[in-house]
Amino acid sequence: MPFHIEPLGLTSATVLSTAEFIKKVETGVSTWLLQGEVDTSDKLYLLRDRKEPQKDKAPAQITLRLRHYLILVKTRAHREALTSIMLSTHMLAVEKLRWVEHGHPRVDRAERLCRLCRNEVETPEHALLNCTASLELLALRHDFFVELLIALPHLHSAVEQMDSINLLKRLIAQRPTISLVAKFAYHVLKLFYDVPIYRPPRTLV
Ligand SMILES: [Zn+2]
Repeated sequence: MPFHIEPLGLTSATVLSTAEFIKKVETGVSTWLLQGEVDTSDKLYLLRDRKEPQKDKAPAQITLRLRHYLILVKTRAHREALTSIMLSTHMLAVEKLRWVEHGHPRVDRAERLCRLCRNEVETPEHALLNCTASLELLALRHDFFVELLIALPHLHSAVEQMDSINLLKRLIAQRPTISLVAKFAYHVLKLFYDVPIYRPPRTLV
């Protein structure tokens, strides 16, 4: 791996100041970009294919525009939650069970199931947009979409029709509501992290 960023706990204090963290993220991602990693890494799928408005030019694909988003989100914990989702440094099963840890074996991606519903792979898009296993989660999502669609009513058809990965990318790309998305991400991740991760029972070979 060309660069490593310590995952930021949502509640625990981190030794890095926010400014240092943002710098580290940008430097790390720049390095990856130079190597074309964003196009090939399955971890950075939320950073791919993003179009940014350009002055006097047609929107161009510029992958690295993290600073805008990070500066617009004023609450540090919310900013860190959103960053962890964009860079796959979150602690959802799809990432957490990728690695061999404390004697636990690596788990195949298809078996990194959601700790709440145990029906689908526990990805950010599943947690934020698809999982229906918790009333608290459904309430968070309902309130988020009500607020989002009041601010950006033109997103209504996207919310109704897009698949969850593309919808999540679309939501992250909206500057006026980025703080709302970050706050929602923070509360959803917290709800998940309060429940122990689900590890599939080991099958005897
Ligand atoms: Zn689920």
